[in-house]
Amino acid sequence: MPELPEVETVRRIAAPLVIGRSITGITMNPTFTCVLEAPDGMDPVSSLIGRTIMDVERRGKYLLFLLGADLWMVIHLRMTGRLLVVDHQASPVRFEHLGIALDNGKDLRFGDQRKFGRVRVTLPEEVEALSFRLGPEPFDRQVTGRWLHGALERRSGKIKAVLLDQHLLAGLGNIYVDEALFRARIHPERIARNLSLEEATRLIGAIRHVLRSAIANQGTTFSSFENPYGEAGSNADFLRVYGKGRGALSCPRCGTALEHLVVGGRGTTFCPRCQLLPGQDTSSASPA
Ligand SMILES: [Zn+2]
Repeated sequence: MPELPEVETVRRIAAPLVIGRSITGITMNPTFTCVLEAPDGMDPVSSLIGRTIMDVERRGKYLLFLLGADLWMVIHLRMTGRLLVVDHQASPVRFEHLGIALDNGKDLRFGDQRKFGRVRVTLPEEVEALSFRLGPEPFDRQVTGRWLHGALERRSGKIKAVLLDQHLLAGLGNIYVDEALFRARIHPERIARNLSLEEATRLIGAIRHVLRSAIANQGTTFSSFENPYGEAGSNADFLRVYGKGRGALSCPRCGTALEHLVVGGRGTTFCPRCQLLPGQDTSSASPA
């Protein structure tokens, strides 16, 4: 499922290909026209035609296309959504639901096997409200160890579940939360408000590290994620724990067998030696 690094990868590649281009036509797969949404009373197709893409931004896991002072197009890839930039003559991409033709002979094509993703044409007020509901971006200047420590003080849930909540920080999902907790040596079932300032500081550093590396590797692809050129990201090769808890694989740091848990309804992998719960024997903890 695309998280911040995958959505940012799409943004970085798509932006120079589409900014400044005007929308000349829309094609929809008649079996799934509800992929394209708009507020009540607004026709999404006629609202898009003739508009120029002024900018492509990202907020959390959302792609935001600025289409003038009074209109946005918000794309949420959700589980298996893909946004590709192809020649107008190119055949439909896999599971294509929507094509947006541009005045440079290119199309933005939206494909989605699971059909949870959406393309929503909307007003600035709605984009502001969306942004207001989300927590800050992990790379925002205000996001420091002290800030995270303060934000966690009000949270009685388990740290893994709290980090998945987009109201705290925007853009994290299952992959990068597991990777960041491993890097910060914090057990996924720790109660969020019990983290020390030192742990919160280590955690925000770990979150930034795993996100930055994943962006550099153009995201993680297990099955469906592709960048706008239709290419897979290479970050799966660099994951240290995510998805490895069921195969008796060992911790890359200490060699202990990784374990699998369900936390907040999500499969979770951690090292029982590097990521101890308070009260567990620390004498066996790895010094590495
Ligand atoms: Zn370990």
